[in-house]
Amino acid sequence: MTATEVQPAALTILTEEEKLFQASVRRFAREQIAPHVREMDDASLFRKDIIRQFFELGLMGIEIPEELGGQGGSFFQCILAVEELSAVDPSAGVIVDVQNTICNNALLRWATTEQKSKYLPQLAANTLASYALSEAGSGSDAFAMATRAEDCGDHYLLTGRKLWITNAAEAGFFLLFANANPEAGYKGVTAFLIEREFPGFQVGKKEDKLGLRASSTCELILDNCRVPRENVLGDVGKGYKIAIETLNEGRIAIGAQMIGLARGALDHATAYAKERKQFGKAIGEFQGVQFELAKMATEIEAARLLVYNAARLRDAGMPFLTEAAMAKYYSSEVAEKAASKAIEVHGGVGITKDYPVEKLYRDAKIGRIYEGTSNIQLLTIAKKLLGK
Ligand SMILES: Cc1cc2nc3c(=O)[nH]c(=O)nc-3n(C[C@H](O)[C@H](O)[C@H](O)COP(=O)(O)OP(=O)(O)OC[C@H]3O[C@@H](n4cnc5c(N)ncnc54)[C@H](O)[C@@H]3O)c2cc1C
Repeated sequence: MTATEVQPAALTILTEEEKLFQASVRRFAREQIAPHVREMDDASLFRKDIIRQFFELGLMGIEIPEELGGQGGSFFQCILAVEELSAVDPSAGVIVDVQNTICNNALLRWATTEQKSKYLPQLAANTLASYALSEAGSGSDAFAMATRAEDCGDHYLLTGRKLWITNAAEAGFFLLFANANPEAGYKGVTAFLIEREFPGFQVGKKEDKLGLRASSTCELILDNCRVPRENVLGDVGKGYKIAIETLNEGRIAIGAQMIGLARGALDHATAYAKERKQFGKAIGEFQGVQFELAKMATEIEAARLLVYNAARLRDAGMPFLTEAAMAKYYSSEVAEKAASKAIEVHGGVGITKDYPVEKLYRDAKIGRIYEGTSNIQLLTIAKKLLGK
């Protein structure tokens, strides 16, 4: 091996800094979030004091450079944070995910120096962000969006509605996509940086969901919303590129959310298997139960390797598109199965709200839907296979 070659290491070997970071997020999630998970799910409301703690702990600006108020960390650290939070509450995981891996990430890559110095310190310190692409008529076919941006010289006027926007109830900042030149099709799609107070902007109805209930998902209403020209992110007509590339990275974090969730389900199932007695012994003594736990652990490890590999590739500046699609596709399958099996290990009580696994089962469903459905991930993987 030459001196310039890097010794390949096992994907799960963490640096000292990563280990410390992982341990601190794990402790925070267990001590500060776990006691409130049930209450937040019931109320469909994420506690403001916990969001404030996310900021105080530096979890909302992981990759933002220190001189702009962030932690100067890596994408891989974002993945570790989302995994650890999601093992306790996947709603916590998605809040931190959208902020770091999508919104901050897009600004770090495409914002001007002025935009960065204006917005990144706020995003690291106290302002929650949303990513607004989807609409009622455009989900998987995201660039068929109907929201329009009219060029008025020093500003744009945006009109339309966005749907399903995570974090929107609490967000102060929105990375929003609108078409500034509909005749050009997807080449008219443009990214805008929108402050909640901009005239003509409004957060609409909040969805009442099956799972991930504490994470807000809202409609956005733009009625001649006035956005200064300097708030265009990247070039006019290049929003499709920003949307695709940020989602490619965000997908890895959804994989992390799903492996965290699955690990949470396995931990609950293992603890219950040790404690619950039938036929005079703990159910974990029965090979039938042991095998279910062993299969869950194996699938979670396989999913984790996909997620960590995609994240490490991204940090290394290597191509990761297919790996990210595989990570998201497989992790969401594994999470749904693990949560379902965890309920079975619990027997009847697993279905009740007295135990945490029914919530994880509800929370798992979204993994196959947002940031590109499982079919869309499979299309991405198949395109690579077929050389398209
Ligand atoms: C809780 C939640 C949070 C969300 N957060 C955000 C957010 O923060 N920002 C945002 O912009 N969006 C967000 N979304 C929207 C999400 O990304 C979309 O719901 C998702 O992309 C799917 O779009 P759709 O719901 O319109 O389904 P559709 O696109 O209508 O899909 C319906 C079905 O058809 C299948 N399908 C569609 N096209 C194809 C095809 N070409 N080949 C094979 N199958 C296909 C899909 O796989 C799916 O099974 C969120 C959604 C939810 C539910």
